[in-house]
Amino acid sequence: TSPTPYYFTQPKDARLLLQKRDRFSNKGSFGHALLLAGSYGKIGAAVLSAKACLRSGVGLLTVQVPQCGYEILQTSVPEAMCRPDEHQRVLTGASEVEGPEPVDYSTVGIGPGIGKAPETLTMLRSLLPTLKKPIVVDADALNLLSENRDLLAKLPINSILTPHPKEFERLTKKWENDYQKLDILREFAKKYKVIVVLKGAYSAVTTPDGDIHFNSTGNPGLSTGGTGDVLTGILTALLAQGYDPIEAAVLGVFAHGLAGDRAAEQRGPIGMVATDILDSLRWD
Ligand code: AMP
Ligand code: MG
Repeated sequence: TSPTPYYFTQPKDARLLLQKRDRFSNKGSFGHALLLAGSYGKIGAAVLSAKACLRSGVGLLTVQVPQCGYEILQTSVPEAMCRPDEHQRVLTGASEVEGPEPVDYSTVGIGPGIGKAPETLTMLRSLLPTLKKPIVVDADALNLLSENRDLLAKLPINSILTPHPKEFERLTKKWENDYQKLDILREFAKKYKVIVVLKGAYSAVTTPDGDIHFNSTGNPGLSTGGTGDVLTGILTALLAQGYDPIEAAVLGVFAHGLAGDRAAEQRGPIGMVATDILDSLRWD
């Protein structure tokens, strides 16, 4: 505990959160996640997110992508199952093939590369009220929430939102200084009963009670396309495995930054790309 609502996540804190695997486990023990990601020209976001989810211990993963992403995903992520959307280029939520409903999965991760097509907004509108467990919301899913604010109240309690500063500003308002930014952050998380990860140097994991866990890992090498999609996959995997959502957010953000630090050691901060983070992810 801390006398102020501020915490700073250190290696020992992350280690305590990490769950050990039971000798008698099987893939059913670690959840089945559904990722809703990608649109025409942004299928790479779905691939990165899916790979990160699998590298973070999920038992099973299904990815719903528009049809244009079907072969790309099946080829580049053979461990994942793929649900082709009925639409060629964007997500509508409706699938060409039969399968479980989103509510039947352990958790849902939504946002990487999805774009803001009207069909995708319609999907978000009908999807959110059906979900009961916390989900991960990122990227254009956040931007759609900013533009359709009635949907914010439909988010399952304790869901994890992962805005970068620009996305957070769209969700809230422009801040005058860093103190005000933290106040706005805390207020938002309390109001909508969600966990907000404000990304950047010292990413701030904010809880519905108004606590803020600043992250200690990560470096400017992470300022490159696709690294946020990797974080979404990581957090989705942790929720699917049954981690408490606050612990999932604190641990996932720490592990993501640490993998980024390892990637920077290997490739240098300038040469590293999001794929290098995947290769550097370790959970021990
Ligand atoms: P996105 O903007 O959605 O691609 O997400 C970028 C990811 O990289 C987030 O996890 C950020 O926390 C991380 N990141 C970007 N720049 C930095 C930085 N200068 N220091 C630490 N982490 C960073
Ligand atoms: Mg992003």
